[in-house]
Amino acid sequence: MSEPEILFPLSFDSASPRTPWKAEMASLVRDPQTLCALLGLQGADAEEIRRACGDFPLRVPRPYLNRITRGDPQDPLLLQVLPQLQELTETPGYSADPLDEAQFTPVPGLLHKYQGRVLVVLNGNCAIHCRYCFRRHFPYKEHQIGKAHWQRIVDYIAADTSIREVIFSGGDPLTVTDSALAEKVRQLDAIAHLKRLRLHTRVPVMIPSRINDDCLAWLRATRLQVVCVIHANHANEIDAEVLQALDQLRGAGVTLLNQTVLLRGVNDAAETLIRLSETLSEAGVMPYYLHQLDAVQGAAHFAVSDAQAAQLMQALRASLPGYLVPRLVREDAHSPNKTPL
Ligand code: SF4
Repeated sequence: MSEPEILFPLSFDSASPRTPWKAEMASLVRDPQTLCALLGLQGADAEEIRRACGDFPLRVPRPYLNRITRGDPQDPLLLQVLPQLQELTETPGYSADPLDEAQFTPVPGLLHKYQGRVLVVLNGNCAIHCRYCFRRHFPYKEHQIGKAHWQRIVDYIAADTSIREVIFSGGDPLTVTDSALAEKVRQLDAIAHLKRLRLHTRVPVMIPSRINDDCLAWLRATRLQVVCVIHANHANEIDAEVLQALDQLRGAGVTLLNQTVLLRGVNDAAETLIRLSETLSEAGVMPYYLHQLDAVQGAAHFAVSDAQAAQLMQALRASLPGYLVPRLVREDAHSPNKTPL
Protein backbone atom coordinates (compact mmCIF):
# COMPACT_ATOMS: atom_id res chain seq x y z
CA MET A 1 0.00 0.00 0.00
CA SER A 2 1.37 3.45 -0.86
CA GLU A 3 1.89 6.15 1.74
CA PRO A 4 -1.05 8.52 2.21
CA GLU A 5 -0.32 11.92 0.70
CA ILE A 6 -0.02 15.06 2.82
CA LEU A 7 -3.49 16.24 3.83
CA PHE A 8 -4.11 19.82 2.72
CA PRO A 9 -6.88 21.80 4.46
CA LEU A 10 -10.19 21.22 2.67
CA SER A 11 -11.50 24.77 2.60
CA PHE A 12 -12.00 27.49 0.07
CA ASP A 13 -11.31 31.10 0.91
CA SER A 14 -11.66 33.36 -2.10
CA ALA A 15 -9.69 36.10 -0.27
CA SER A 16 -6.62 33.89 0.14
CA PRO A 17 -3.88 34.04 -2.51
CA ARG A 18 -4.25 31.42 -5.23
CA THR A 19 -1.92 28.43 -5.11
CA PRO A 20 0.28 28.50 -8.25
CA TRP A 21 -0.92 26.00 -10.83
CA LYS A 22 2.28 23.98 -10.89
CA ALA A 23 2.01 23.46 -7.14
CA GLU A 24 -1.60 22.33 -7.68
CA MET A 25 -0.42 19.88 -10.36
CA ALA A 26 2.23 18.57 -7.96
CA SER A 27 -0.35 18.00 -5.23
CA LEU A 28 -3.04 16.18 -7.20
CA VAL A 29 -4.73 13.53 -5.08
CA ARG A 30 -3.63 10.21 -6.55
CA ASP A 31 -4.05 7.90 -3.59
CA PRO A 32 -7.50 6.39 -2.80
CA GLN A 33 -6.79 6.34 0.93
CA THR A 34 -6.06 10.07 0.88
CA LEU A 35 -9.20 10.76 -1.14
CA CYS A 36 -11.35 8.87 1.37
CA ALA A 37 -9.72 10.63 4.32
CA LEU A 38 -10.06 14.10 2.83
CA LEU A 39 -13.70 13.58 1.93
CA GLY A 40 -14.71 11.70 5.08
CA LEU A 41 -15.90 8.71 3.05
CA GLN A 42 -16.33 6.39 6.00
CA GLY A 43 -17.72 3.30 4.26
CA ALA A 44 -15.40 3.48 1.24
CA ASP A 45 -12.85 0.73 0.68
CA ALA A 46 -9.59 2.29 -0.49
CA GLU A 47 -8.25 -1.07 -1.70
CA GLU A 48 -11.34 -1.59 -3.84
CA ILE A 49 -10.93 1.88 -5.35
CA ARG A 50 -7.29 1.10 -6.06
CA ARG A 51 -8.31 -2.06 -7.91
CA ALA A 52 -11.05 -0.25 -9.82
CA CYS A 53 -8.53 2.21 -11.24
CA GLY A 54 -7.26 -0.43 -13.67
CA ASP A 55 -4.82 1.30 -16.04
CA PHE A 56 -6.42 4.74 -15.57
CA PRO A 57 -5.16 6.01 -12.21
CA LEU A 58 -6.99 8.23 -9.76
CA ARG A 59 -6.24 11.91 -10.25
CA VAL A 60 -8.15 14.73 -8.53
CA PRO A 61 -7.03 18.37 -8.22
CA ARG A 62 -7.51 19.92 -4.80
CA PRO A 63 -9.53 22.97 -5.93
CA TYR A 64 -12.08 20.53 -7.40
CA LEU A 65 -11.99 18.44 -4.24
CA ASN A 66 -12.95 21.53 -2.24
CA ARG A 67 -16.27 21.62 -4.10
CA ILE A 68 -17.25 18.05 -3.16
CA THR A 69 -19.56 17.64 -0.17
CA ARG A 70 -17.77 15.79 2.62
CA GLY A 71 -19.22 12.43 3.55
CA ASP A 72 -21.52 12.22 0.51
CA PRO A 73 -20.63 9.17 -1.62
CA GLN A 74 -23.21 10.28 -4.22
CA ASP A 75 -21.85 13.78 -4.71
CA PRO A 76 -22.06 14.49 -8.47
CA LEU A 77 -18.50 15.81 -8.60
CA LEU A 78 -17.15 12.84 -6.69
CA LEU A 79 -18.87 10.38 -9.04
CA GLN A 80 -16.92 11.84 -11.97
CA VAL A 81 -13.57 10.94 -10.43
CA LEU A 82 -14.21 7.97 -8.15
CA PRO A 83 -13.07 4.68 -9.71
CA GLN A 84 -15.82 2.03 -9.48
CA LEU A 85 -15.44 -1.71 -9.88
CA GLN A 86 -17.96 -1.61 -12.79
CA GLU A 87 -15.16 -0.04 -14.84
CA LEU A 88 -13.46 -3.42 -14.99
CA THR A 89 -16.49 -5.11 -16.61
CA GLU A 90 -16.23 -5.55 -20.38
CA THR A 91 -19.39 -4.20 -21.98
CA PRO A 92 -20.42 -5.28 -25.50
CA GLY A 93 -20.44 -2.32 -27.89
CA TYR A 94 -17.85 -0.44 -25.85
CA SER A 95 -14.23 -0.26 -27.03
CA ALA A 96 -10.82 1.20 -26.22
CA ASP A 97 -10.96 3.63 -29.17
CA PRO A 98 -14.67 4.38 -29.68
CA LEU A 99 -14.01 7.16 -32.20
CA ASP A 100 -11.49 5.16 -34.22
CA GLU A 101 -9.10 8.08 -33.97
CA ALA A 102 -6.13 6.05 -35.15
CA GLN A 103 -7.37 6.20 -38.76
CA PHE A 104 -7.57 10.03 -38.84
CA THR A 105 -3.94 10.60 -37.88
CA PRO A 106 -1.84 11.66 -40.90
CA VAL A 107 0.99 12.80 -38.61
CA PRO A 108 1.51 11.51 -35.05
CA GLY A 109 -0.23 13.86 -32.62
CA LEU A 110 -2.53 15.38 -35.27
CA LEU A 111 -6.11 14.30 -36.04
CA HIS A 112 -7.64 15.54 -39.27
CA LYS A 113 -11.21 14.35 -39.29
CA TYR A 114 -13.39 17.38 -39.97
CA GLN A 115 -13.23 19.80 -42.88
CA GLY A 116 -11.35 23.03 -42.15
CA ARG A 117 -9.93 22.14 -38.75
CA VAL A 118 -7.33 19.87 -37.22
CA LEU A 119 -6.91 18.69 -33.66
CA VAL A 120 -3.49 18.49 -32.05
CA VAL A 121 -3.04 16.11 -29.12
CA LEU A 122 -0.50 18.34 -27.40
CA ASN A 123 0.20 15.98 -24.53
CA GLY A 124 -1.30 13.15 -22.50
CA ASN A 125 -1.39 14.96 -19.21
CA CYS A 126 -4.58 16.00 -17.41
CA ALA A 127 -5.29 17.80 -14.15
CA ILE A 128 -8.07 15.32 -13.46
CA HIS A 129 -8.96 11.83 -14.58
CA CYS A 130 -12.63 11.79 -15.54
CA ARG A 131 -13.79 8.20 -15.32
CA TYR A 132 -15.94 8.53 -18.46
CA CYS A 133 -13.11 9.94 -20.62
CA PHE A 134 -13.19 8.59 -24.19
CA ARG A 135 -9.41 8.89 -24.36
CA ARG A 136 -8.81 6.92 -21.16
CA HIS A 137 -7.09 4.20 -23.24
CA PHE A 138 -5.50 6.55 -25.80
CA PRO A 139 -1.89 5.54 -26.60
CA TYR A 140 -0.43 8.92 -25.68
CA LYS A 141 3.11 7.54 -25.70
CA GLU A 142 2.81 6.85 -29.46
CA HIS A 143 1.63 10.41 -30.03
CA GLN A 144 4.12 12.33 -27.91
CA ILE A 145 5.06 15.55 -29.60
CA GLY A 146 8.78 16.13 -29.63
CA LYS A 147 10.37 18.97 -31.59
CA ALA A 148 10.53 16.96 -34.84
CA HIS A 149 6.89 15.86 -34.53
CA TRP A 150 5.73 19.38 -33.86
CA GLN A 151 7.55 20.62 -36.94
CA ARG A 152 5.82 17.93 -39.04
CA ILE A 153 2.48 19.13 -37.63
CA VAL A 154 3.27 22.77 -38.49
CA ASP A 155 4.35 21.73 -41.99
CA TYR A 156 1.14 19.73 -42.49
CA ILE A 157 -1.02 22.68 -41.42
CA ALA A 158 0.98 25.14 -43.53
CA ALA A 159 0.63 22.93 -46.61
CA ASP A 160 -3.18 22.64 -46.45
CA THR A 161 -4.81 26.00 -47.08
CA SER A 162 -8.28 24.58 -46.32
CA ILE A 163 -7.37 24.45 -42.62
CA ARG A 164 -8.79 27.49 -40.83
CA GLU A 165 -8.70 26.34 -37.24
CA VAL A 166 -6.30 24.46 -34.98
CA ILE A 167 -7.67 22.79 -31.88
CA PHE A 168 -5.28 22.21 -28.99
CA SER A 169 -6.46 19.15 -27.11
CA GLY A 170 -4.89 16.34 -25.13
CA GLY A 171 -4.84 15.27 -22.40
CA ASP A 172 -5.24 18.88 -21.51
CA PRO A 173 -3.31 21.55 -23.43
CA LEU A 174 -3.20 23.88 -20.45
CA THR A 175 -1.00 21.44 -18.57
CA VAL A 176 1.75 22.50 -21.01
CA THR A 177 3.95 25.39 -19.86
CA ASP A 178 3.22 28.90 -21.05
CA SER A 179 6.62 29.30 -22.68
CA ALA A 180 6.02 26.18 -24.80
CA LEU A 181 2.46 27.22 -25.65
CA ALA A 182 3.56 30.77 -26.53
CA GLU A 183 6.19 29.41 -28.92
CA LYS A 184 3.73 27.02 -30.62
CA VAL A 185 1.13 29.74 -31.03
CA ARG A 186 3.75 32.09 -32.45
CA GLN A 187 4.52 29.52 -35.16
CA LEU A 188 0.82 29.08 -35.94
CA ASP A 189 0.40 32.87 -36.12
CA ALA A 190 2.81 32.85 -39.06
CA ILE A 191 0.53 30.55 -41.14
CA ALA A 192 -1.57 33.08 -43.05
CA HIS A 193 -4.59 30.86 -43.79
CA LEU A 194 -5.22 30.07 -40.10
CA LYS A 195 -7.99 32.12 -38.49
CA ARG A 196 -8.74 30.50 -35.17
CA LEU A 197 -7.14 28.68 -32.28
CA ARG A 198 -9.41 26.57 -30.13
CA LEU A 199 -8.49 25.21 -26.70
CA HIS A 200 -10.30 22.18 -25.35
CA THR A 201 -9.51 22.27 -21.67
CA ARG A 202 -10.88 21.39 -18.25
CA VAL A 203 -8.09 23.22 -16.46
CA PRO A 204 -9.74 26.67 -15.98
CA VAL A 205 -12.43 24.83 -14.00
CA MET A 206 -10.15 22.28 -12.31
CA ILE A 207 -7.23 24.57 -11.42
CA PRO A 208 -8.35 28.16 -11.95
CA SER A 209 -4.96 29.58 -10.87
CA ARG A 210 -3.69 28.25 -14.23
CA ILE A 211 -5.11 31.42 -15.80
CA ASN A 212 -2.22 33.61 -14.68
CA ASP A 213 -0.41 36.58 -16.23
CA ASP A 214 1.89 34.40 -18.37
CA CYS A 215 -1.06 32.53 -19.83
CA LEU A 216 -3.02 35.71 -20.49
CA ALA A 217 0.04 37.25 -22.19
CA TRP A 218 0.23 34.69 -25.04
CA LEU A 219 -3.53 34.62 -25.37
CA ARG A 220 -3.52 38.39 -25.86
CA ALA A 221 -0.50 38.35 -28.18
CA THR A 222 -1.83 36.00 -30.85
CA ARG A 223 -3.48 37.40 -33.98
CA LEU A 224 -5.71 34.28 -34.06
CA GLN A 225 -9.22 34.42 -32.68
CA VAL A 226 -9.11 32.26 -29.55
CA VAL A 227 -12.05 30.09 -28.57
CA CYS A 228 -11.83 28.20 -25.29
CA VAL A 229 -14.18 25.27 -24.81
CA ILE A 230 -14.28 24.54 -21.10
CA HIS A 231 -15.79 21.32 -19.85
CA ALA A 232 -18.13 21.64 -16.89
CA ASN A 233 -20.69 18.95 -16.19
CA HIS A 234 -22.36 20.39 -13.10
CA ALA A 235 -22.98 23.87 -11.67
CA ASN A 236 -21.19 22.90 -8.43
CA GLU A 237 -17.93 22.86 -10.40
CA ILE A 238 -18.09 26.62 -10.87
CA ASP A 239 -17.08 28.54 -7.74
CA ALA A 240 -15.74 32.06 -7.14
CA GLU A 241 -12.21 31.16 -8.21
CA VAL A 242 -13.45 29.63 -11.46
CA LEU A 243 -15.58 32.71 -12.13
CA GLN A 244 -12.49 34.86 -11.69
CA ALA A 245 -10.46 32.73 -14.12
CA LEU A 246 -13.23 32.82 -16.72
CA ASP A 247 -13.53 36.57 -16.31
CA GLN A 248 -9.78 36.91 -16.96
CA LEU A 249 -10.05 34.80 -20.10
CA ARG A 250 -12.90 36.95 -21.38
CA GLY A 251 -10.86 40.04 -20.56
CA ALA A 252 -8.12 38.68 -22.83
CA GLY A 253 -10.60 38.50 -25.70
CA VAL A 254 -11.23 34.76 -25.50
CA THR A 255 -14.64 33.44 -26.58
CA LEU A 256 -15.90 30.96 -23.99
CA LEU A 257 -18.04 27.91 -24.76
CA ASN A 258 -18.89 24.91 -22.62
CA GLN A 259 -19.30 21.25 -23.46
CA THR A 260 -20.94 18.83 -21.06
CA VAL A 261 -21.08 15.06 -21.11
CA LEU A 262 -24.47 13.66 -20.11
CA LEU A 263 -23.71 11.31 -17.23
CA ARG A 264 -25.99 9.02 -15.27
CA GLY A 265 -26.07 9.98 -11.59
CA VAL A 266 -24.19 13.22 -12.24
CA ASN A 267 -26.31 15.51 -14.41
CA ASP A 268 -29.16 13.40 -15.82
CA ALA A 269 -31.89 15.57 -14.30
CA ALA A 270 -33.51 18.58 -15.97
CA GLU A 271 -33.09 20.88 -12.97
CA THR A 272 -29.35 20.02 -12.81
CA LEU A 273 -28.81 20.88 -16.48
CA ILE A 274 -30.92 24.04 -16.21
CA ARG A 275 -28.87 25.22 -13.23
CA LEU A 276 -25.69 24.48 -15.16
CA SER A 277 -26.82 26.60 -18.12
CA GLU A 278 -27.87 29.45 -15.82
CA THR A 279 -24.53 29.34 -13.98
CA LEU A 280 -22.60 29.29 -17.25
CA SER A 281 -24.57 32.28 -18.44
CA GLU A 282 -23.62 34.21 -15.29
CA ALA A 283 -20.00 33.26 -15.99
CA GLY A 284 -20.20 34.55 -19.58
CA VAL A 285 -19.90 31.06 -21.07
CA MET A 286 -22.27 29.85 -23.78
CA PRO A 287 -23.54 26.27 -23.42
CA TYR A 288 -22.40 24.60 -26.63
CA TYR A 289 -22.70 20.83 -26.66
CA LEU A 290 -24.37 18.25 -24.45
CA HIS A 291 -22.61 15.04 -25.50
CA GLN A 292 -24.01 11.60 -25.34
CA LEU A 293 -21.36 9.38 -23.77
CA ASP A 294 -18.74 7.94 -26.10
CA ALA A 295 -18.82 4.15 -25.83
CA VAL A 296 -15.45 3.71 -24.20
CA GLN A 297 -14.69 0.54 -22.26
CA GLY A 298 -15.03 1.21 -18.50
CA ALA A 299 -17.64 3.98 -18.72
CA ALA A 300 -20.86 2.09 -19.48
CA HIS A 301 -22.28 2.79 -16.01
CA PHE A 302 -22.53 6.50 -16.96
CA ALA A 303 -24.72 5.90 -20.04
CA VAL A 304 -28.08 7.66 -20.37
CA SER A 305 -30.56 6.38 -22.98
CA ASP A 306 -31.35 8.49 -26.05
CA ALA A 307 -35.02 8.53 -24.99
CA GLN A 308 -34.16 10.03 -21.59
CA ALA A 309 -31.76 12.50 -23.23
CA ALA A 310 -34.57 13.65 -25.56
CA GLN A 311 -36.89 14.19 -22.58
CA LEU A 312 -34.23 16.23 -20.83
CA MET A 313 -33.76 18.40 -23.91
CA GLN A 314 -37.49 19.04 -24.04
CA ALA A 315 -37.41 20.21 -20.42
CA LEU A 316 -34.44 22.50 -21.16
CA ARG A 317 -36.18 24.04 -24.16
CA ALA A 318 -39.28 24.67 -22.03
CA SER A 319 -37.30 26.42 -19.29
CA LEU A 320 -34.44 28.29 -20.93
CA PRO A 321 -33.99 30.83 -23.71
CA GLY A 322 -32.82 29.07 -26.87
CA TYR A 323 -29.28 30.41 -26.61
CA LEU A 324 -28.80 28.69 -23.25
CA VAL A 325 -29.91 25.29 -24.54
CA PRO A 326 -26.87 23.20 -25.55
CA ARG A 327 -27.05 21.01 -28.66
CA LEU A 328 -27.45 17.34 -27.86
CA VAL A 329 -24.97 15.43 -30.01
CA ARG A 330 -23.19 12.15 -30.40
CA GLU A 331 -19.83 11.76 -32.05
CA ASP A 332 -19.87 8.97 -34.61
CA ALA A 333 -16.49 7.64 -35.58
CA HIS A 334 -17.06 7.90 -39.33
CA SER A 335 -19.40 10.87 -39.63
CA PRO A 336 -18.05 14.15 -41.14
CA ASN A 337 -19.62 16.09 -38.27
CA LYS A 338 -21.14 15.55 -34.85
CA THR A 339 -24.57 13.93 -35.09
CA PRO A 340 -27.42 16.01 -33.63
CA LEU A 341 -29.88 13.87 -31.67
S1 SF4 B 1 -9.79 16.37 -18.64
FE1 SF4 B 1 -10.63 15.74 -20.65
S2 SF4 B 1 -9.01 14.47 -21.57
FE2 SF4 B 1 -8.56 14.63 -19.36
S3 SF4 B 1 -9.54 12.84 -18.42
FE3 SF4 B 1 -11.03 14.52 -18.30
S4 SF4 B 1 -12.27 14.30 -20.15
FE4 SF4 B 1 -10.40 13.10 -20.48
